[in-house]
Amino acid sequence: MADSIFGRILRGEAPADVIYADELCIVIKDINPQAPVHLLVIPRRPISQLSTADPDDQALLGHLLLTARQVAAEQKLDDFRLVINNGRGAGQSVFHLHVHVLGGRRFSWPPG
Ligand code: AMP
Repeated sequence: MADSIFGRILRGEAPADVIYADELCIVIKDINPQAPVHLLVIPRRPISQLSTADPDDQALLGHLLLTARQVAAEQKLDDFRLVINNGRGAGQSVFHLHVHVLGGRRFSWPPG
């Protein structure tokens, strides 16, 4: 997998506002927030996108969702939206898997 800004953040080579970290993932504030709360849950393992995760990643993928739920609760969000953009056509710009945690405003459906 090609290196990305998230790889550099994970190695401590680029700055980030890290609000949570454990052995499997980190959570940072998005640099260009699309909602009052906009966090990114990023696995330490360099998976480029969801479609290239393999079956051995099952527990890790579950951990990312539970971590997203946990940080949403810590931000006092009752309602929140999780987004995974998979591929450029779906809006993915950083090719290191991440879960967006968005909250603090109303969201419409369908998404843009
Ligand atoms: P995506 O378009 O789904 O790949 O999401 C990538 C997200 O990463 C975007 O919301 C960007 O604003 C965010 N982002 C890019 N660089 C940084 C950075 N250095 N620190 C925090 N967030 C970033």
